[in-house]
Amino acid sequence: MAKDFDPATELQNIQNFGEFGGVNPSITDSSTYTFLEADRMEEVFEHEIEGCYLYSRHWNPTNRYLADALAKMEGTEAAQVMGSGMGAITSTLLQLCDAGDEIIASRTIYGGTYAFLKNYLPKFNISVKFVDVTDLKKVEEAVSDKTKIIYCEALSNPLLEVADIPALSKISKKAGTTFIVDNTFTPMIISPAKLGADIVVHSLTKFINGTSDAVAGAVCASKEFIDSIMDVNSGSAMLLGPTLDSLRSASILKNIRSLHLRMMQHSRNAMYLAKGFQELGLKVRYPGLKDHPQHELLKQQYNEVYGFGGMLFIDAGSKEKAYELMEYMQNQNVGYLAVSLGFYKTLFSAPGSSTSSELSDEEQKEMGLSDGIVRMSVGLDMDIESTFDKMTIALKEANLI
Ligand SMILES: *Cc1c(COP(=O)(O)O)cnc(C)c1O
Repeated sequence: MAKDFDPATELQNIQNFGEFGGVNPSITDSSTYTFLEADRMEEVFEHEIEGCYLYSRHWNPTNRYLADALAKMEGTEAAQVMGSGMGAITSTLLQLCDAGDEIIASRTIYGGTYAFLKNYLPKFNISVKFVDVTDLKKVEEAVSDKTKIIYCEALSNPLLEVADIPALSKISKKAGTTFIVDNTFTPMIISPAKLGADIVVHSLTKFINGTSDAVAGAVCASKEFIDSIMDVNSGSAMLLGPTLDSLRSASILKNIRSLHLRMMQHSRNAMYLAKGFQELGLKVRYPGLKDHPQHELLKQQYNEVYGFGGMLFIDAGSKEKAYELMEYMQNQNVGYLAVSLGFYKTLFSAPGSSTSSELSDEEQKEMGLSDGIVRMSVGLDMDIESTFDKMTIALKEANLI
């Protein structure tokens, strides 16, 4: 654990009361707010006034509670919540880039982010260089005087590559760019801002909310940056409007309080399965295994008590085998054949043909994404031993062992 910073303790130390002394903060389900004096309204349009609200696309008190909690968790000055992870990512990128600018992005990232960078940003004449961020030299070589942003995931989707955040931060500082890290796969496990990231983005939809009942996102950054995206006249989030509903904010805030316990259990179970699969002779990738190329690198960066995370994958060899295995596993009721992650049940999908299908076949091949990969978000199972036994039955049914 980073000696002086623990994300769960930061959350535990928050003290927010509801309107009537409730132990949970009150929910503000209003889109608009009254003013006692007309000139005060004019003032709020010009600049933020603490405790003064105008309209809920701008700020809502309930969203503020959740945003403040996330800022605490990531150790940033400020944060804002969004209606989705993509809302958080796109508002951040669009705020920072002008036409003609360049972004350096990891080539292994979430499919939606990849599609936005590759297919959508050219509209604005913003170009993207996709690089292997585990090769720091390649990142350095990609920097030009047009580079505005270096973008990666702390633990990448779907290949589970670990980014060297301190080293990338150094390259970014030298180049005068903004270093953005998507920490969706490793909340609490990695604290990117503490390791040198300028901005941390999240899909709250996954581990952070953890109940697969809501789509939401967050941007954690300096107060100056959060103010800039919420600026009434020029803020990307204010003007594009990916606002999170306050009722959802309230429910996500309640779920965050058990995130540390869930992350520990996801990690414990994923480690158990990864070792078990390895002993069965399967091709398995999990950052907690010694044969993971960045196992040691993750150990240098992680908050140890939370483990190596809940994500792993096995390579079933072919798409057909992957499909067969997933159906057999679902029949064994060890989890669901579904995209997304961070649920109490194990979720499995074949990223080559689903969440990373935005990548062409050649692109997938180049980065080592075989179409036989089965990605698992390991659940909170209390009895992981019997889950593993049932998975073994499915593996036998699919003739993989
Ligand atoms: C799911 C995901 C996103 C997008 O988040 P949404 O909430 O679905 O918009 C971004 N990054 C990563 C790593 C994800 O897994």
